[in-house]
Amino acid sequence: MNLLRLSAEEIYCKTVSGELDPVDTADYFLENISSVMERYNNFITLTPELARSSAKAVRDCLSSGDAPGILAGVPVAVKDNICIEGYPTTCGSRILEKFKPPYNATVVKILLESGALIIGKTNLDEFAMGSSNENSFYGPVKNPLDADFSPGGSSGGSAAAVAGFQVPLALGSDTGGSIRQPASLTGTVGLKPTYGSVSRYGLVAFGSSLDQIGTIAGNVRDTARLFQVISCCDRYDSTSVDYNRPDFIVGINNFKPLKIGIPKEYFGDGLDDDVRQAVENGIDILKSVGCKIIDISLPNTDKAIATYYVIATAEASSNLARYDGVKYGHRSADSEDLLEMYLNTRSEGFGDEVKRRIMLGTYVLSSGYYEAYYRKAMQVREALRHELFAAFEDVDLIVTPTSPTAGIRLGEKVSDPLAMYLSDIYTVTVNLAGNCAISVPCGYNDTGLPIGLQIIGKHFDELTLLKTAHRLEKELDLKAGAGNKSNPPGV
Ligand code: GLN
Repeated sequence: MNLLRLSAEEIYCKTVSGELDPVDTADYFLENISSVMERYNNFITLTPELARSSAKAVRDCLSSGDAPGILAGVPVAVKDNICIEGYPTTCGSRILEKFKPPYNATVVKILLESGALIIGKTNLDEFAMGSSNENSFYGPVKNPLDADFSPGGSSGGSAAAVAGFQVPLALGSDTGGSIRQPASLTGTVGLKPTYGSVSRYGLVAFGSSLDQIGTIAGNVRDTARLFQVISCCDRYDSTSVDYNRPDFIVGINNFKPLKIGIPKEYFGDGLDDDVRQAVENGIDILKSVGCKIIDISLPNTDKAIATYYVIATAEASSNLARYDGVKYGHRSADSEDLLEMYLNTRSEGFGDEVKRRIMLGTYVLSSGYYEAYYRKAMQVREALRHELFAAFEDVDLIVTPTSPTAGIRLGEKVSDPLAMYLSDIYTVTVNLAGNCAISVPCGYNDTGLPIGLQIIGKHFDELTLLKTAHRLEKELDLKAGAGNKSNPPGV
């Protein structure tokens, strides 16, 4: 049996019924990843001991008749900015090359409790800063659908792992679009949960008020299964929220037609025609299943990128101050005194994009500029949040493109940071406002590259997102690419 083409749900069912032995599953996936890893460059570390010990625990649980967790025997990849005890957590950076955290992130702890087999840590833009995965110290990741293209970023390694059938499920993090944009560029499903619905404990901080751990999967049902596991209130994360979480796996089937807002600012200049067409087709499908389509306006949208890059860099400059060669990872070898050691360590350890952001962030926070940039950005953030909030008084969901282009050719934007920053134009508002959003494949351009449609939901209303995305996915029934298991790309 070719296990690589099975969904997470299928692997779970076959594991529980005894048709699959979890230890064999772990070995099968690890062997396949080892054979294709170099081609995609999307794993930084494999975690075979962890995968096998979890597999044995699932096997023991099943043979003793106990109920296994809902990811029993399912291989999962974890973005390498999420801590796994005793394994390197590099964040795609030289400065953390040798850092091994002494604890598990909460999401890792609950994945293990749910019977998941954690297979390895995936490549990413350094400290999750980027949109093409080309900012990693460990080299760029290739899109399994076309190796000349990027899988997007910064969770490109995780997206490539799902799109290339290396794992059915992966975790990513999304500060300004880093789950949804790579999902869009690889034909996978990417969920950025509401800020506060998934614990950030053990996620290496980039922009703490924006960062959120979320899921990448081959379909919406598997997304619901993974989200069911990772969504929880955690006393180790004071921003995580205690609310009554529904059953996402069951709830996903109860689709009801809704009011869907289409913000005109997301369909203006800068959107490629092929993306526009595919997203409009998706909207027509939602209409055909009974949704009411309502034109809306979010007039501050054009300020979102600037606002995001002020706030994200400000927070990053503060968060990354801790990497000084004393406490974590890399330390410069030859320095005369402490100050020189700090300087050399940070100069050697950080890549260009991270340095650019630290400088920008330090500048916008410095006295004299704080009022003009940081305070102003916080005010615009509030306006954006308010605008989205107000829009949700009239509609249940908002639909937009995920990314302005279907693909990013490797090397195409790497020397033009501003062009790269514009890749996030449709995703950053959601992080600034804290809402949940999902990217679902909605078509392909004429060269076969996938296109994603973004659905934005109210705070903590992931279930409505998942139901709608699930229905759209069923109606579209895409016949090519990684979003659909029946006609996968050549692996
Ligand atoms: N591409 C955006 C950035 O470079 C978003 C990154 C992210 O979501 N981690 O900041």
